[in-house]
Amino acid sequence: MCFIQKFEETEKLHPAFLGFHSKTATGKPVFNSKPTPFKIAYSAKKTHRTLQDYFHPIAFVQHLKRLFASTFPFEKPNRAVHSVFLHCSASDLPEHDSVDVIEDWHKQRGWDGIGYHYFIKKDGTIQVGRDLEKIPIAQSGHNTGSIAICLHGLKKEKFTNDQYNSVVSVCSAIRGQYMPQKIKFRGHCEVSSKTCPVFDYKKVLDLDVNGYMK
Ligand SMILES: [Zn+2]
Repeated sequence: MCFIQKFEETEKLHPAFLGFHSKTATGKPVFNSKPTPFKIAYSAKKTHRTLQDYFHPIAFVQHLKRLFASTFPFEKPNRAVHSVFLHCSASDLPEHDSVDVIEDWHKQRGWDGIGYHYFIKKDGTIQVGRDLEKIPIAQSGHNTGSIAICLHGLKKEKFTNDQYNSVVSVCSAIRGQYMPQKIKFRGHCEVSSKTCPVFDYKKVLDLDVNGYMK
């Protein structure tokens, strides 16, 4: 039921959830494909549902599709991971809203590619960055044992609910691959003087005082 409730609170099916069906030649899922055909028109305004709504054949299939699509396909890397760090891109410019741009920035610094494992666009699309088997280049002194996620944004009020939904999806999937209470979710600001990731990640991820997802 939790998934159903979640989607009832959501205006539309999330673009990120709709990209899972495409794959690269090597079979790696592509998350940044745009929503197309099987996007399910879903009304968030209909808050009161009857049992008939749930058991109507079409509605039932739609619920199944949502349940299937809501599982972010995270596979934990072989290296040990104990923390997930949240970052922001420090830009609100639309032209910077892409994992490719961030990768260019990081390569210009002489790095071997993008430092973050995931990048979340304003529309909530989740883009894959660095190979999960590689430690990130993201939080100086705290990279080993971590996964780094970056949301596009700078000003707190300009992050979007779509981004929040996506970061919750990714982080829930990560947590699900580790034993409960074994992986901490932290902001870059906890280990640096920066305000990164700016948005209230503790609230968005519903963290307890120790940084664990409840
Ligand atoms: Zn950061």
